[in-house]
Amino acid sequence: MAYKVINPYSGEIVREYELMSKEQVAAKLDRAEAFYKSQKNVSFLERAEKLEKFAKLLEEKQDELAREAALNMGKKITEGKGEVLLCANLAHYYADKGPELLESKPYEYGNGKKAVLEYHSIGIVLSVEPWNFPYSQVVRVLAPNYLLGNPVVLKHAGIVAGCAVLLESLAKEAGLGEGAFTNLFVSHDQVTDIIADERVQGVALTGSEDAGRIIASQAGKSLVKSTMELGGSDVFAILDDADLELAVEDAIGARLRNAGQVCTSAKRYVVEAKIADQFISSIKERFTDIRLGSPLEPDTELAPLSSKNAVDVLQKQVEEAVANGANLLVHGGPVKGTGNFFKPVVLTDVSPENPAYYQEFFGPVAQVYVVPDDEAVIKLANDSFFGLAGAVYSKNIERAHAVASKIETGQVFINRPSGAHPELPFGGVKHSGYGREMSDLGLYEFANEKIIVFG
Ligand code: NAP
Repeated sequence: MAYKVINPYSGEIVREYELMSKEQVAAKLDRAEAFYKSQKNVSFLERAEKLEKFAKLLEEKQDELAREAALNMGKKITEGKGEVLLCANLAHYYADKGPELLESKPYEYGNGKKAVLEYHSIGIVLSVEPWNFPYSQVVRVLAPNYLLGNPVVLKHAGIVAGCAVLLESLAKEAGLGEGAFTNLFVSHDQVTDIIADERVQGVALTGSEDAGRIIASQAGKSLVKSTMELGGSDVFAILDDADLELAVEDAIGARLRNAGQVCTSAKRYVVEAKIADQFISSIKERFTDIRLGSPLEPDTELAPLSSKNAVDVLQKQVEEAVANGANLLVHGGPVKGTGNFFKPVVLTDVSPENPAYYQEFFGPVAQVYVVPDDEAVIKLANDSFFGLAGAVYSKNIERAHAVASKIETGQVFINRPSGAHPELPFGGVKHSGYGREMSDLGLYEFANEKIIVFG
């Protein structure tokens, strides 16, 4: 299996890369391990300076990086630049706040005896990442681990190999150090061998539930710590006192951003009966009138999906949903011709017996549920195997907060769509995975939190 980049807009092959041999992978792991050892006497502050340089390079090269993402997986150029700036902000955040967050913490035990908690690196972290955010998913793992002194080896999704190569060259240019960040073109079987390598001490996966089950069990078998950032079917709840204009605007954006291929997309709109008719007619109009086009054109509203396979899988899910009784409020689906275009679909009347009720739709397909009150919002939100994020809209912040607190999920946003912010923890519960990325919590995931006890 070679890594093949196919332009989602034109269907042309952009680049191909050969798989690395066993010997090549071994040599790269040797260099990563050498980096780990070499950093033991290097301060967090020294690495923070290099991280800062990496952040600045990301800002400088945002056009080039965004263009590569558009050619690899169809991300709109404006969204691509936004993603690169998020990466830069993540690197700035850890460079700025990280050293303080890693300062030793005093503890006491017994009758006032002293102990101190220190943060240390643990070794190589394997980062297995998806194509939908080809840069930020990687930098979420790279920035905190680099600061700690953990080398990161990347197994990126095959279709965004060009993005992986660019990111690796940027890390080199920033002077992060040989072995600090290494891209590996490897097969799934080679990933199994890498996880089993004694020098690999952490595995961070972002991807599907299926990949999560496989990688988490391989990490478990090798007794290696793992974090799992998996799928979601988040609710976007509109309570009956919501600012409807704001809710409609955000609901559209939260479903169609990145052509709907976001783990925290608003996949289920849950709207209270009093305002349901207005909400439904507004979104129907907006979803129907969307402008399709090239990801490189600035006025494109909806770019193609990442691959032909993504279109086929999504359409199959929609057909199955309709065959099981769902109603098509907005008829969309695959567009004939060149490019992996998929027009938005909105489903209503999805019953719990319909397979669609519990599935993640990874593309521009929304579901609408109308419920009587806040209790019903919470019940529906929690009737899911996922628990990644969510949003609640209401002019009464206390009411929205009460609903948010009862949703079984890793993050809830009030009167704003879910998003990624370097200062805030990001992660899920249930089948959405475990562990947290970004913020202070993301920094500690692969740290050795070592306690030194004084007698
Ligand atoms: P995927 O098929 O699970 O792939 C993710 C990564 O895992 C890719 O690098 C893939 O490599 C690799 N992989 C898959 N199976 C593997 C195996 N058996 N052994 C080793 N590596 C394996 O997911 P995707 O379709 O690219 O991404 C979409 C999913 O990611 C959605 O469910 C989405 O919700 C989730 N996601 C979650 C978050 C979050 O933060 N929670 C963020 C973004 C996306 P290949 O490409 O070579 O198969």
